[in-house]
Amino acid sequence: MSIGYTRRDMLQFLGVSAMSMSIPKRLQDAQKDGKGKKAAGKPLTFFGWSDTHIPVHGDGSKLWPAIDAMNKLPDKPYPKNIGGIVDTPTFVFNCGDITEWPTHQAKKTYEDLITKRLRYPSYEILGNHDEAGADGVEGAPPIMKEWFKRRYGDLSYTFDQGGIHFVCPFSAYDESLGSPAQNITTEAMDFIRKNLHRHYSPDLVPEKLISIPQGRPIVVAMHLCFDAMTNRDAFVDALGDTNVIMVLGGHYHKAKVGSYRDVNFVQLPSVNSAWSEVTVIRITSDRLVAIPYDYSKGQWVDDREKILNVKISK
Ligand SMILES: [Zn+2]
Repeated sequence: MSIGYTRRDMLQFLGVSAMSMSIPKRLQDAQKDGKGKKAAGKPLTFFGWSDTHIPVHGDGSKLWPAIDAMNKLPDKPYPKNIGGIVDTPTFVFNCGDITEWPTHQAKKTYEDLITKRLRYPSYEILGNHDEAGADGVEGAPPIMKEWFKRRYGDLSYTFDQGGIHFVCPFSAYDESLGSPAQNITTEAMDFIRKNLHRHYSPDLVPEKLISIPQGRPIVVAMHLCFDAMTNRDAFVDALGDTNVIMVLGGHYHKAKVGSYRDVNFVQLPSVNSAWSEVTVIRITSDRLVAIPYDYSKGQWVDDREKILNVKISK
């Protein structure tokens, strides 16, 4: 559906600057950079990590080596078969379970790390631990949810960077099932369906939607990875025939890639695991690369199950 307005027209019409009501200034600056990159036809590079599980008392030391590695990755040559060097990432994406349990201390540690130690803007989604914690839903304070809503306007949101449309739905987790493998919720799939074609920001444009140009590459980010999804077909059906080039996931604490019904799934690594990895993602007009970097060994991962290097032109 086209409503005849470009995003910029709509924003001018509304008399507000892009995302100004819900996205921090640092991210607004990054959005401008991202748009500039799109105009110049440059690739988009971003880094991915997940399941940082900052403990209740806020000790963030497990995240330091990963952050320091991300800060140093620009200019590093990729493996020969990929080619080129790592660009400065436009942002870093955390696929959820930011905290082990949503305490003020854990939230503050994360905020401090992404604003003071990490040199790039950060986007994130919430995971089951941020929502409720490993000990069950009852008694979990809504600290991360409230922080998230202040940051993005709602628990689900979208953003644009480098000509790519990112759709980041919240999918509530059901602790009562006693299983880490679960359905993506109907609400999350409704959000996906709606926002594959249209921007939606409750703060920015209440009741109004902004259309996404047809064919625009789209990335969908979920906390549950492909292996944890118990309704994969319904999820892929929700993506429809839009140009979704990749679905990001976390939750299982291990980098892994795969393809299902022509959809690329990229599972992001966790600092809370046996692997000291962060994933570097490079999207050009015709190729998508996702490759983890092992910062303990100081080298690229060579496990084929963890590397995506595919053609994406449509
Ligand atoms: Zn999780």
